[in-house]
Amino acid sequence: MDKAGESCKVVLTADRTLMSDYHHNEFVGFGTCAPPNVIPDWLYKFLFFPPIKTKDGVPVAAPYGLRKIEAQLLMEGFDVVTVDPDYLGKYVDEARVLGIHVMDPFGLGPASSTFASILKKEPFLAQYFRMLMEKSEIKRAKKHGLKIVIGGPGVWQFKYRPEFVKEYGIDCIIDGEAEKVIGKIVQAALNGEDLPQYYEVSVEETPSLEEIPDIVAPSINDLVEIGRGCCRGCRFCSVTLRPLRWYPYDKILREIEVNMKVGGGACLHAEDVMVYGSKNTIPEDEKLIKLHEAVLEKCGGIGWSHCSLAAVASKPKLFSKISEIILQKQSWWGAEVGIETGSAELAKKIMPAKAHPFKPEEWPEVVRTGMGLMHDYKLIPACTLIVGVPEETEDDVIKTIELLDDLKGIRSLIVPLFFVPMGRLEDEDWFNDAEMNSVHQELLIKCLKHDFYWINSLIDLAFAGKWYAKLIRPFYRLFVEIIIHKAAKAGIR
Ligand code: SF4
Repeated sequence: MDKAGESCKVVLTADRTLMSDYHHNEFVGFGTCAPPNVIPDWLYKFLFFPPIKTKDGVPVAAPYGLRKIEAQLLMEGFDVVTVDPDYLGKYVDEARVLGIHVMDPFGLGPASSTFASILKKEPFLAQYFRMLMEKSEIKRAKKHGLKIVIGGPGVWQFKYRPEFVKEYGIDCIIDGEAEKVIGKIVQAALNGEDLPQYYEVSVEETPSLEEIPDIVAPSINDLVEIGRGCCRGCRFCSVTLRPLRWYPYDKILREIEVNMKVGGGACLHAEDVMVYGSKNTIPEDEKLIKLHEAVLEKCGGIGWSHCSLAAVASKPKLFSKISEIILQKQSWWGAEVGIETGSAELAKKIMPAKAHPFKPEEWPEVVRTGMGLMHDYKLIPACTLIVGVPEETEDDVIKTIELLDDLKGIRSLIVPLFFVPMGRLEDEDWFNDAEMNSVHQELLIKCLKHDFYWINSLIDLAFAGKWYAKLIRPFYRLFVEIIIHKAAKAGIR
């Protein structure tokens, strides 16, 4: 969609760390969680979140969530354009509503708060969100009555920053899936009515499948949603509070078609791609195979956003079949995977259904089996561990350390994340570095060593076949070398 040069009443945007394709690699996007470090900021930005291509300030691709809102507003007849943050000046003067998409606006998410807690600096993604809000063109438009509406997975963080909301004149923050409510909020803003400062989307307002529009312009890195919600019910997670819905094949293929205007593949997004089409935690062989065959027939490659170890471990044959399909056009694929703990006791308390259809007591074995299968069939997982969850004991951490020993030979990244109160544990206390004991430190060092061992081969794989690999790869390698050198100076070898 090309709205360049037009004056639109509704402008949508996101900060630079979100309006980037990370050199066509979602893994690289994790770099936005880090604070400024040994690399000069300008070089770090180029390496980890370079600006996306634009035409007259309109990005060729934008975050998937923003594209959904854009599609919904267009469907309801609003005059809307999505704009790169560096080109707001050209559009925002004429606008009456500015919609901003956020993921981790204050760096309070698990990955960025862990980095910030250790390195004692504001992460890039928080810095760039603040820089967006401080833009003179927004302040100018605000004086002329512009209403600012914010949505996205990171909105929960505004509850911890009420002064910021006031200081920057944010008019409305929408918490939840906004398809059914965004139209009425934008209309109220255009009518000059007061907006609710914090709008929590109720269960009744959560859209059904039929009420979720197809995106009409490409999403960053070919992301396409294949479903929403998760039925595993981990206590520390807010996703699980939403109903489970799977998109039909034709809807997924239509969105891939839209993305193919600028991309070539499809990154399938769900909380667990392995259970596509299933009402529970057991993968549905036929549906999953059909989905992958249909997607691959349409485009040049497949990635996954997330998948569960339990689903992989429960259906090794199905997983091998899926791998066979995917590897027809590529040599590996990636996904985010939650390990969280190596302790069966802790798993039982905080994520009793994570191992399902296996028992929670079997969790460490489920992790070993799932990770082994991923290694054999070329899925490279970026794994997370939770550190400092309220009920955690020293023995639980020791169990996780022991599990890491077993995972040494698995091609993967393993990232420890400090506990952030969310989901059913939202009233608990945050964990921070001051609470770290020697066992926690040992765990962090173990993760670092694991990642240092694998990182160079992962960089090679991530950029294999790309024309610019030769130019850019040495910079990432240098970055890794500097970090390893720093760690060695701190006694981590
Ligand atoms: S499996 Fe993942 S998405 Fe589902 S509830 Fe647990 S942490 Fe949340």
